[in-house]
Amino acid sequence: MQFKKLFIPGPTMVHPDVLAKMATPMIGHRSKDASDLQRRITEKMRKLMFTQNKIILSTSSGTGLMEGAIRNSTAKKAIVFSVGAFGDRWADLGLLNGVPCDLHSEESGNPTMPETADKYLSTGKYDVCCVTHNETSTGIMNPIEGIAEVMKKYPDVLWLVDAVSSMGGAKIPVDQLGIDICITSSQKALALPPGLALASVSKKAEARFEVVGNKGYYFDFKNLIKYIDKKDHQYSSTPSLSHMFALDFQLDRMEKEGFENIFVRHLEMAEFMINWANKYFKIYPKPGFESLTVTCIDNTRRINVADLNKELGNRGMQISNGYGDLKEKTFRIAHMGELHMDDMIEVTSAIEDILKLN
Ligand SMILES: *Cc1c(COP(=O)(O)O)cnc(C)c1O
Repeated sequence: MQFKKLFIPGPTMVHPDVLAKMATPMIGHRSKDASDLQRRITEKMRKLMFTQNKIILSTSSGTGLMEGAIRNSTAKKAIVFSVGAFGDRWADLGLLNGVPCDLHSEESGNPTMPETADKYLSTGKYDVCCVTHNETSTGIMNPIEGIAEVMKKYPDVLWLVDAVSSMGGAKIPVDQLGIDICITSSQKALALPPGLALASVSKKAEARFEVVGNKGYYFDFKNLIKYIDKKDHQYSSTPSLSHMFALDFQLDRMEKEGFENIFVRHLEMAEFMINWANKYFKIYPKPGFESLTVTCIDNTRRINVADLNKELGNRGMQISNGYGDLKEKTFRIAHMGELHMDDMIEVTSAIEDILKLN
């Protein structure tokens, strides 16, 4: 197998020292060492997420926690605001779990606007609001601060945010924004192998879990929290301790770089990519709502994206085609996790060379 430098929006590149931590010898998952490990991760994740909320770990990908979140939180009805494939997933998860749920979809390329959220929530029909922070399929970053202002008008509504492809790359001050459940995965901006998901859970959400029935078993959040509280930061079944060793170490690396420095690094890469996209093609999302972690490019030159990626592969790099219906109509270049400006210059220069752009 030939390994390539990944410019895809997950899994992302993992630093060799972090990969090596995955090979740490096993410990008992009911040991004090396991409690200490989970507690250390919790404390560091709280800093990264700017929250005092509890942090639940899940040996699953992020979708598992999204499924758990909508199912554990909805007593009345959920409203899902979708701007693409991952927003639609919230609604599918609701539907397939028998959770009452409505879906509002935007035309592709457009964000969820605060006014739209307000319009739905003012009906009083909903007790859960699901939003995608960073829609990886269309490269949109939703205006989370504006939506937060609206959410403050509805204290009885739980706010669930999919931050899978942005947490660790963009600043998301969870407590200031008032996010009740904020979800992320290991394999995106956190730059770990796939297989672990994390979420912050507010007191308000915890109270809701008390009254919602039929929560299933594996993703019963009340049970996950019981193990944090009563068993001193343990996990209800056997967790991927390997991921936990790696995450504990990776969060130290991130703290060493400085969280604010990491956010600036992502902002600079995003600005570079947006300018590059607009110079040679066109940015796909509505201007002003471009993602800080992945750039979705409108294929205005009608290039063959699959061929481009093959040629990039020969040079040891890989980007992403468009997602679903947007295949060949768009292509995506991620700039998250371990990637730096030098990498973005490398991949864009290679594309310019292959396509003979000037
Ligand atoms: C990748 C992604 C998901 C799915 O996460 P998994 O960890 O693959 O389950 C959900 N939402 C967004 C925005 C994503 O980018």
